[in-house]
Amino acid sequence: MLPPPILPSNLDALLRLISSGLVYQVPVRGATTACTADQSHDMQLWVTGTYSARSLRLNKCADCQSVEVRDVSFDANVGGSRLARRPLNRLLGFYSGRRPAGRTYAMSR
Ligand SMILES: [Zn+2]
Repeated sequence: MLPPPILPSNLDALLRLISSGLVYQVPVRGATTACTADQSHDMQLWVTGTYSARSLRLNKCADCQSVEVRDVSFDANVGGSRLARRPLNRLLGFYSGRRPAGRTYAMSR
């Protein structure tokens, strides 16, 4: 398996680097307290595209607008077996929506 790509430190930089991107509408409710209260997010498909030769999927929280970045590239064939290849769906990082100006890259691997 390839090592995970390194993400830029802010979301805007990542969005500029994504190629063949598709953006989906995520209606924002803005109920940020729902996220801080139970530490969960209502993640919805927001952007798909290619970055660093990987297929990325960005999910945005409909409440606090935090963004998670997942590598959904197809995993390498397992020893030439006949098993179907499957998308990795590996979490690469997380951009916090709490500070609109910052939106820093909060977590990795
Ligand atoms: Zn949230």
